[in-house]
Amino acid sequence: MPSSPPRIRRNPPADGVLDAIASGEAESWSPQEILTWGVKNFRPRIALSCSFGAPEGLVLLDMMHRIDPGSRVFVLDTGRLPQATHDLIDRVRERYDKPIEVVFPDSGAVSAMVREHGTNLFYESVEMRQRCCGVRKVAPLNAYLGELDAWATGLRRDQTLSRGDTPKIQIDHTHGGIVKLNPIADWTRDQVMAYVRAHNVPTNRLHAKGYPSVGCEPCSRAVRPGEDARAGRWWWENEGNRECGIHFGEEGQGSGI
Ligand code: SF4
Repeated sequence: MPSSPPRIRRNPPADGVLDAIASGEAESWSPQEILTWGVKNFRPRIALSCSFGAPEGLVLLDMMHRIDPGSRVFVLDTGRLPQATHDLIDRVRERYDKPIEVVFPDSGAVSAMVREHGTNLFYESVEMRQRCCGVRKVAPLNAYLGELDAWATGLRRDQTLSRGDTPKIQIDHTHGGIVKLNPIADWTRDQVMAYVRAHNVPTNRLHAKGYPSVGCEPCSRAVRPGEDARAGRWWWENEGNRECGIHFGEEGQGSGI
């Protein structure tokens, strides 16, 4: 049975916010300046999306925590995350003395999907994989974002071709017009890792085992030397199909989590 659309309770962006987005002035701002702007304009209705499966989100968590120790961070717990990711969530919680908002899928929707299609439906077809991502990731994210005015992500332009035009601040029409911050859109992987080392930011232990990006356990694998960093996600599909819908919209951005 199709789920009903999430209820959106959102304040419309103020004129100053819309002006900053329209002018493109944020393109010259540092990640810390963008996060400071976000906290100033939206606190407490702004939260950082962190998958705990890639260093980008953890770098932003560290930056945002330094700006505002009360800043909010959330993770989508699909029910299929590896133990290493759960361990990292608890490590970060203790290190920063910070509650992590864990967002779960609707248990009834998961139960109905598994009853009809099995636990590992994602290996059967692209449609089944997208259905699983839809129930376990997209729907809970939409519901969670419906209670916020802004969110921040670790998207970077050089991660995939489809992210090449990612602005640092935008109106996210895919999620009902919420303001979306992408503070490290213009960073390289090397800059991310330099920040991790400089600030001793905790990261997922599976990176050391060849996983550049860690998602759900059955849908992530280590990559071989020379392979693209995204090759370990949904590797049994053609590359063009690898979208989970979280960052996918009319601007053509692909999956990020
Ligand atoms: Fe399901 Fe795999 Fe998507 Fe996780 S990544 S929600 S297990 S299809």
